Amino acid sequence: MARYRGSVCRICRRENLKLFLKGDRCYSDKCAFDRRGYAPGEHGQRRRGKTSDYGIQLREKQKVKRMYGLLEQQFRLYFERADSSKGITGENLLKLLESRLDNTVYRLGLAPSRNAARQLVRHRHFMVNGRLVDIPSFQVKANDVIRVREKSRQMGMIHNSMKRVRDGKMVPWLVLDKAQMQGTVLETPARQDIPVNVNENLIVELYSK
Ligand code: SF4
Repeated sequence: MARYRGSVCRICRRENLKLFLKGDRCYSDKCAFDRRGYAPGEHGQRRRGKTSDYGIQLREKQKVKRMYGLLEQQFRLYFERADSSKGITGENLLKLLESRLDNTVYRLGLAPSRNAARQLVRHRHFMVNGRLVDIPSFQVKANDVIRVREKSRQMGMIHNSMKRVRDGKMVPWLVLDKAQMQGTVLETPARQDIPVNVNENLIVELYSK
C-alpha cells in the first residue's frame, strides 16, 4: 500500500505542531520542531501570512490525517463513516481513528509511535481477544484485550516503550498490565479523553462544502 516516505519531522514543521511521529526522539532535544520551529523549505522562516478559512480547514484536516498516518482516500472513508453514524460527526471521526488497533497499541505504550505500532501489528506481534490480528485499521471496542504474542515478548522495542507508562494508564479509556504485557479497552473513547489538539469541526466544514 502506498504511504508517505519523506521526512516525518518536516510534517510537524509544516503543520506547526508536534505530531509525535518518531517515538523517543520526539521527547528528546533532537526534536526538529523544537530546534527549528518554522515551516520547512527555502522560505520557511518568512512570517506565516494570513490564511483563508479554506486554508485553515485544510490544514486541520492534514494535521489529523498525518497524525494517524493515513492517506487521503482512507481518511475520506473514515469521514464518510463518521458522517453516517449517530452523534457529532467530528467526534465520531476522532473516535474511529482512536479505535484503530495501531493507535491503540501506541496509546497503550506498547510501541513508541503510531508508525512503529503499525509495523508491529503488521508483523503479527499482537493478539486481540486471543486471536492474531495483523490489520492496523482493525477497530477495537470496549472490553477487548490486546496482548503481545508469546514469541514477541522479548522484543526490546516493546519493553523500552512500556517504560513510558507509569501507572498503567496513558489515556483513561485504556489500561495496560505490564506484567502480562496486555492492555484492555475499558470503554469507547470520549472526545475529552482523546489527547489531540485539533478542532475537528473545521474538518467537517471542509468536507461539507
Ligand atoms: Fe515531530 Fe517527533 Fe520529528 Fe519532533 S522528533 S519534529 S515531534 S516527528
